[in-house]
Amino acid sequence: MKVFKFGGASVNSIERIKNLGPILQEFKEDQLVVIISAMGKTTNALEKVAEAFFEGNRETALTLFHEIKTNHLAIAQQLMTRGYADCEMQLADFFTEIEWLLHDKPVRDFDYYYDQVVCLGELLSTCILSHFLNEWGIANQWVDVRDLIRTDNNFRDANIDWETSTEKIQGLMKKGIGPSSKILITQGFIGATDDNESSTLGREGSDYTAAIFANIVEAESLTIWKDVAAVMNADPKVFPDAVTIPVLNYTEVIEMAYYGAQVIHPKTIKPLQNKGIPLLVKCFLDSSLAGTQIHNKQIKGLPPIIVLKPKQVLVTMTTTDFSFVGDHHMRELYGLMESMHLKPNLMQTGAISLMISLDDQSEKISKLAQAASGIFDVQIEKGLTLLTIRHYTAATIEQHLAGKTAVLQQQSRETLQFLY
Ligand code: ASP
Ligand code: MG
Repeated sequence: MKVFKFGGASVNSIERIKNLGPILQEFKEDQLVVIISAMGKTTNALEKVAEAFFEGNRETALTLFHEIKTNHLAIAQQLMTRGYADCEMQLADFFTEIEWLLHDKPVRDFDYYYDQVVCLGELLSTCILSHFLNEWGIANQWVDVRDLIRTDNNFRDANIDWETSTEKIQGLMKKGIGPSSKILITQGFIGATDDNESSTLGREGSDYTAAIFANIVEAESLTIWKDVAAVMNADPKVFPDAVTIPVLNYTEVIEMAYYGAQVIHPKTIKPLQNKGIPLLVKCFLDSSLAGTQIHNKQIKGLPPIIVLKPKQVLVTMTTTDFSFVGDHHMRELYGLMESMHLKPNLMQTGAISLMISLDDQSEKISKLAQAASGIFDVQIEKGLTLLTIRHYTAATIEQHLAGKTAVLQQQSRETLQFLY
């Protein structure tokens, strides 16, 4: 069995949706689990609905929602003839559920409502895709992933209940995907709690859903279909001389994601690595391209990998009484950052000072500065960029650092980091 994941960009137009058919047909001998994201920017649009509702602007929420609804209906109508009526009926049920909710008053916290509203994007896209493909003779079975992926109620960043999810997914697989089809179509990014409330796994979480399925069904591979030829050693929009990387390993991908490369959702790798399942990154615009293969093995001769993380803030903390930075300072600081869900991207300690580079989440940074001001003198510098080069060479250092002044720099055998 193979698991496929198609992201929002692969289903953001009629043309691209139609393009999925031939790709799936290439694999007609295989059993496929196909995980799909919401179309294009639907998730962003639904976020706005949830916000308006929570702020008490019911009319705005309903208007914004109406737009999403008409868009999806229009797409379905353009894609189908025979299958449209059934598809519309299923879509109508999803719409009604949200409209009921929007007519209520919020009494629970924002994250809860966010998930109840935002989960809709994937339900709509998969519903349309499934009906469309069935009409086009690519028989498939649609499932509501909320009946399969069980999570806790940490809304917007829910944690997987592996035991229950495994039981449910394996239960379905035992029955077989379907009597007349080999393709199962379901949603990425969403799940449900013990109380049957919808939950989401964090933005861009569909890759993670695909990895969970791959792990549980012990798939022979997971393929993530993207709009790029393969994983590249740098963002080609910023660095036109970027090259594709044909083979990578899990460790390298985890490192790249950690430093800020937007290749694959960082949580995706572990479930694959644990079962030794290869990850393929392929191009949905041209499936004949080789793409990138990611596996467990050692790889030699990787090109320098360049990652930029903009919008950094450098927080410099100096002990107020000129005492050395000791364990208790560090403990307190880590405690503060953990409680605020702040992750340092780069950190350096000196005798009486500490420097930390963080993503610029202004509100949290001010809170951190305020809380730390009890033990430190705190200074903040904004508008910085963190450049990371893995497998650096003298030439890449020269190319990327020339003319820039570092405010902080760190270098290990494999990795150079440069904050400027
Ligand atoms: N639709 C969700 C998002 O836009 C999940 C995903 O695309 O992976 O964040
Ligand atoms: Mg996406």
